Amino acid sequence: MTDSIYDVIIIGGGPGGYTAALYCVRSGLSALVIEKLSAGGQMAETEQVDNYPGAGEGIGGFELAERMREGAERFGARTLYAQAQKADLRANPKRITTDQGERLGRSVVLAMGAYPRMLGLAGEQELRGKGIAYCAACDGMAYRGKTVAVAGGGNSAVADALMLAKLCAKVYLIHRRDTLTASKVYLKALRENGIEILWNSRVTRLLHDGRLTGVELAEVNTDRRSKLACDGLFVAIGRIPDTGLAAGQAATDPSGYLVADETTRTSIPGVFAVGDLRTKPMRQIVTAAADGAVASRFVEEYLVELFNGQP
Ligand SMILES: Cc1cc2nc3c(=O)[nH]c(=O)nc-3n(C[C@H](O)[C@H](O)[C@H](O)COP(=O)(O)OP(=O)(O)OC[C@H]3O[C@@H](n4cnc5c(N)ncnc54)[C@H](O)[C@@H]3O)c2cc1C
Repeated sequence: MTDSIYDVIIIGGGPGGYTAALYCVRSGLSALVIEKLSAGGQMAETEQVDNYPGAGEGIGGFELAERMREGAERFGARTLYAQAQKADLRANPKRITTDQGERLGRSVVLAMGAYPRMLGLAGEQELRGKGIAYCAACDGMAYRGKTVAVAGGGNSAVADALMLAKLCAKVYLIHRRDTLTASKVYLKALRENGIEILWNSRVTRLLHDGRLTGVELAEVNTDRRSKLACDGLFVAIGRIPDTGLAAGQAATDPSGYLVADETTRTSIPGVFAVGDLRTKPMRQIVTAAADGAVASRFVEEYLVELFNGQP
C-alpha cells in the first residue's frame, strides 16, 4: 500500500464511488476518490431522499453525501478534488490525468454517473424542482394528488407514467410519435391506469409563474399549438452517461453506457464500472451503492491475480 500507486482509483464521488471506496479500504486496499465538484453527485442535488433504506423520515441528499464521504474517509479513503481529464485505462499501472497532476492506480473504478437529457427549453434549469423533474421514483411523491405530464415514449417514460398514476390525480404522456417506442405490452397498462396519451406532440414552451403551471404543445404534423395545464412535467427522454474518459477504450452499449454485468467488470481488465454509467435496469442511489460494494470484491480479486496472491 503506497501513496504513489493506489490499489484503486475511483473516479467520481457519488454514492457508487464512495461505497466502492468504503468497501475497498475496509478490505485493506488503498483508495483515492477523484471528484471534480463535491461529494454526492446527483444525490447531492436531491433535496430529500426518502427511498434509501434507513432514511427514516427522509434525509437531505447533501447530508447523505457527506456521510458517505466521511464513512469512507474514516477507514482511510482519500479524496482528491480535481477533474479527471484523461484516463489511460489499459496501462499498467493505470494513469489518470487530472487538473492537479497525474495519479496512478493498479485498478480503476469508473463512477462518473449519468445525467438526464434535457428538453432544452427556456426556463427548464430554473424550474427544476419547481415543477420540472427527471425521475419519478425520486420526485413523484411531491406530486401526490396533482396533475402531471410525462414527456417521452420509451420504457422509462412509460414506467414513470405508470408509477405516477398510482399517486397523481391525472397523468398525461406526451409522445412525439404515433406509436410508443416502449414495449407494446405497456399500452394496455397505460389505458388501464387512466393515463392519457397525447400522440404526435412535443413540448415547445414551459408555462410558469415561478413554478410550472403548464406546457405549450405543438402537434408535430401541423404545428398547431395548444396549452396543457399541469403541476409537474417529468422529462423522460433519455439519460447521458458520463463516459467520455473511457471513450474508445471500454465497451459501451448503443446508448453509451459502459458494458458491465453484476460483477461491475468492464471490457478492460482491472477497470470496473459502478452506478448510473453502467448498463443496468434501475439507476438509483441504492443500486449505485450496491454496485460500489460489489466492485470492491472484484477489485480485490483482480489485484490478487495481478500480484499472484500478494496484493
Ligand atoms: C434531481 C435528482 C433527484 C434524485 N433523487 C433520487 C432519490 O430520491 N432516490 C434515489 O435513489 N435516486 C435519486 N436520484 C438518482 C441518484 O441520484 C443517482 O442514481 C445516483 O446519484 C447515481 O450515483 P453514481 O455514483 O452512479 O453517480 P453520480 O451521483 O452521478 O456521481 C457521479 C460523480 O462523478 C463526478 N464526476 C464526473 N465526471 C468526473 C470527472 N471527469 N472527474 C472527477 N469527477 C467526476 C461528478 O461530479 C459526480 O459527483 C436522483 C437524481 C437526480 C438528478
